[in-house]
Amino acid sequence: MNRHYFDHNATTPIAPLVREAMLRAVDEAWANPSSIHQDGQRARQTFEQARSQVAALLGCGPKEIVFTSGGTEADNLAILGAVRADSRPRKHVLTTAIEHPAVLEACAALEREGVAVTYLQPNRDGLIDPDVFCRQLRPETVLASVMHANNETGGIQDIAALAAAAAEAGVLFHSDGVQAAGKLGFSPATAGIGLYSISAHKLNAPKGCGALYVRSGVKLAPLLFGGRQERGRRAGTESVTLAAAFGAAAALVRNDMRPLRDRLEQGILARVPDAHVNGANGPRLPNTANIRFDGISAESLVIALDLRGFAVSTGAACSSGSVEPSHVLLAMGLSPEQARSSVRFSLGLGNTEEQVDLLVEAVTECAARLRKLSPAYSEASP
Ligand code: PLP
Repeated sequence: MNRHYFDHNATTPIAPLVREAMLRAVDEAWANPSSIHQDGQRARQTFEQARSQVAALLGCGPKEIVFTSGGTEADNLAILGAVRADSRPRKHVLTTAIEHPAVLEACAALEREGVAVTYLQPNRDGLIDPDVFCRQLRPETVLASVMHANNETGGIQDIAALAAAAAEAGVLFHSDGVQAAGKLGFSPATAGIGLYSISAHKLNAPKGCGALYVRSGVKLAPLLFGGRQERGRRAGTESVTLAAAFGAAAALVRNDMRPLRDRLEQGILARVPDAHVNGANGPRLPNTANIRFDGISAESLVIALDLRGFAVSTGAACSSGSVEPSHVLLAMGLSPEQARSSVRFSLGLGNTEEQVDLLVEAVTECAARLRKLSPAYSEASP
């Protein structure tokens, strides 16, 4: 059976050009980039080229890029690093209730260290109101962290406006750009942002590599102690291989996914009754559709589609497998039952119109079959 992958917000397949760059680095740039011999210098050159490619993706200077092991480490370094580097006795962090666990758990760790944290609630479309954000900034606020685009709904925050408000209050601004990078043509460097996290495996490169944009002059306490790699901000021998793959992925030209995503949404809404797009009224990533199917368990639909060759998701990959409804959808005001009826479709390189049409067909049939089995739905239906 042909498989059709529609779960690119969880991870992406490795693109052929990325694979080539990675294998070239395996063969030619295997030495330690800190070694002064020619083999080391060759590895250093490959590594620094990768850094320049990642910097070009974000429109910043290469020295402002710190390579990490992924988005989680980039978020942790930004949040723990920035707050611990600030010497004020009383500290406050402003963030939101819809962040990825990489941010929420880092904030929870800070709370255990005595830092006060405020979690802003979004509106029904998953958006944070800049006025509410401003009102929650305090004199002791050290850091504000608001994700750029949500991994579950694709909802995009106006982080330029939020960063400007933070800057006016003298507060450092971090954004988790893991889902937005490469999809929006956005430069944190021109938007007054201090810290911006990205991850290679969301961009058709392997897992285990990410980066943090650190605006020149921003101070961070390191999370790892050891050598002086990454200008003292991230100890440990650099993975030239993974960085080379990340660099190649950053330079890939990407198609606009919006026409395909809209075809998928319109196809489903036209053919499946009682289907609703979560966060439909706000700006959203062009590759993401989060759709609620009333009366259907999202898990059952994901499994039924999987058996027919389609990979989709109930939301964040890390929370799949648990029966907890999505914290993001709950924060947007959905009931637990509505949240448990929501499926995420996320498109990427390689998806075609033909695949989308097959998916619409499969969703229509599976939803009809599952609803026949659902007494709650037939009772609620006229
Ligand atoms: N932030 C967001 C918004 C994500 O979607 C993810 C991964 O799903 C992460 C952070 C963590 O990135 P990584 O898997 O590279 O650790």
